[in-house]
Amino acid sequence: MPMNATQKQNRKLRVAIIGAGPAGFYTAGQLFKHKGLDIEVDMYERLPTPYGLVRGGVAPDHQKIKSVTKIYERIGQQDRFRFFGYVEFGTDIRLADLKRHYHQIVFATGAQLGRQLGIPGSDLLGSHPASDFVAWYNGHPDYRDLEFDLTQERAVVIGNGNVAIDVVRILSHTPEELHKTDIADYALDALRQSQINEVFLLGRRGPAQAAFTPPEIVELGKLKNLDIYVPSPEAELDPLSQAEMKSNPDRAALKNITAIQEYAKNKLGHKPRRVNIRFLVSPVEIHGDQAGRVSGLRLVKNALVKNEVGTLRAEPTDEFEEIPTGLVFHSIGYRGSELQGIPFNGRWGIIPNQKGRVISASETHLPGIYTVGWIKRGPTGVIGTNKLDAIETVKAMLADIANNEILTPELPTADAAVKMVQARQPQFILFTDWLHLDRLEIERGVPENRPRMKFSVIEEMLSNVGR
Ligand code: NAP
Repeated sequence: MPMNATQKQNRKLRVAIIGAGPAGFYTAGQLFKHKGLDIEVDMYERLPTPYGLVRGGVAPDHQKIKSVTKIYERIGQQDRFRFFGYVEFGTDIRLADLKRHYHQIVFATGAQLGRQLGIPGSDLLGSHPASDFVAWYNGHPDYRDLEFDLTQERAVVIGNGNVAIDVVRILSHTPEELHKTDIADYALDALRQSQINEVFLLGRRGPAQAAFTPPEIVELGKLKNLDIYVPSPEAELDPLSQAEMKSNPDRAALKNITAIQEYAKNKLGHKPRRVNIRFLVSPVEIHGDQAGRVSGLRLVKNALVKNEVGTLRAEPTDEFEEIPTGLVFHSIGYRGSELQGIPFNGRWGIIPNQKGRVISASETHLPGIYTVGWIKRGPTGVIGTNKLDAIETVKAMLADIANNEILTPELPTADAAVKMVQARQPQFILFTDWLHLDRLEIERGVPENRPRMKFSVIEEMLSNVGR
């Protein structure tokens, strides 16, 4: 039965958010904006540190983008908010635990893994999801021990989204440029020794369909260490793309095309590193040597064809090409992971939902269960997109509160929740602990003239806050 106005005023609503990335923080922020309700939020995060891909995904040479964490920091310091870091959903706490303590539960677990390439040789040594490399250079504790063979002179990046461009930049910067960033110290050391002097960036469609955005492709041209080459024929638009640009001119695509066609005019340069930006090529096989290491990549040239819904897709031709290389990164998008007890669409790597309300296979709403961010909509958009996404999910949550379609927890108090956390993961981290770690990281960076020096070992993080 819907609540009346007095009930709504007096009711304390307890919300659990799982995942401390941008989508989780925007959701908390939106809930707190709603004045008529007394809402308390507990945010759970499996790592000791918050901020998800802003800490572990955004490129270290894009510090300005990371300043968005100031907004999350303000949310994190509100009285109605608690952060329980180093508490993992599925192991330390389960859905049944949350249902006993909260009226609403929001899954904001993002998409950390790379999509699988699925061609022969994808699993050879030296073939990596770009997402692993990104997490490694950003000091993610689960990825810090990975090894990338930077003794190679040539690397290939498959896919041409913004993550692929990030990888090209990180492989191309001088050690001095990298030193100015908050890149993990072990990655800085490894990249200092890097022998890579040539990178291939491979797009399976043409310049009009490239997934990178104009600022990112233009920035590449400004790197002091890097020459850019684009084969002239591949910079030209095929007739279908020309027609599409005429009938439906997309401003970002037009800017990308202009940048690419400018690069195609470049003559042989003398910078220490070069990137070959290629279009209309798909990998068909990664070759290996006898030791099971990548030795090369076989590509097929593509032509664009229109599919049933009018999208231009890549169709392989019978022309092939080989690129000798010992290091391949697949940067073809991220995918989310399934969570215990929560519906999951394995094909899309998302939690099935209707405007944030989680739905079962038979499309019925699971009362009190919501989702937001990349695990809700897939790995698209920029950080700010998650704010709009959170607004949508919170709208559904507030409507359900108004209709009293919420969970009925046995122990809906802040004390009961903290007791549960203490029992399951006594080493949990609070937001004040994180603020302390944050200050330490920044202080460690000062003598080195770096924005911060990250902790990347969990035990080190815990011991610095007395756990
Ligand atoms: P993305 O933008 O979705 O790009 C994926 C790329 O992989 C596309 O070029 C796609 O080509 C290609 N691809 C997919 N499957 C392929 C296959 N089987 N073979 C060859 N190529 C394949 O993904 P992302 O780069 O991981 O970025 C994820 C999101 O984060 C994006 O929204 C991105 O803009 C954002 N991001 C933003 C920034 C920034 O603002 N600076 C930085 C990093 C990431 P098709 O187009 O043909 O499918």
